[in-house]
Amino acid sequence: MRGGNARSSQQIHDLVKLPLGTDKNEWMAKLVCELTDEVEKLYGTVTEYCTTESCPVMTAGPGWKYLWREKDDDETEQLCARGYISRVLEWAKRILDSEEIFPNEIGRPFPDDFEDKVKKLMSRLFRIYAHCYWYHQEHFKALNTLEHLNFFFTRFIWFAREFDLIGPAELDPIKNIVDKAIRGDLRA
Ligand code: ZN
Repeated sequence: MRGGNARSSQQIHDLVKLPLGTDKNEWMAKLVCELTDEVEKLYGTVTEYCTTESCPVMTAGPGWKYLWREKDDDETEQLCARGYISRVLEWAKRILDSEEIFPNEIGRPFPDDFEDKVKKLMSRLFRIYAHCYWYHQEHFKALNTLEHLNFFFTRFIWFAREFDLIGPAELDPIKNIVDKAIRGDLRA
């Protein structure tokens, strides 16, 4: 993974803007694949510190607890953070691999609810970042990867903003981090 400490927040913002002449859905599909991959790699570096003892429930600070539910009409399940995050990543990959939702074939249309699917993906991926910032920042620091976390999170949040993919209330658990990322004040 490449970090980007030399890049300003505005330059990172430019990286996610829809390039001229590119189809919006294709651009979003490409970005959301990359963002999923990035958060998986980032979380992978601290997984050994995210145990059932250290993080018995998937939370993002004292006020936010996330329960897992695969589909809207499923029962909710309380999982440890690691369990929850691996479910999110498996679920995300199933969606990204689905030809109906993320068509690989050129010219094959995206479904009408494509943007809703992307929003749901982004909301769930955001929770992984929120958990990492709350409980594992020190681990990233110790591993010298906090700079990577900050860079990829800044890209993630600019993409979410650019295409209006995550509601403001959902950002509350790490609102200060989000604001810093946007301002370019997120420092390792
Ligand atoms: Zn954890």
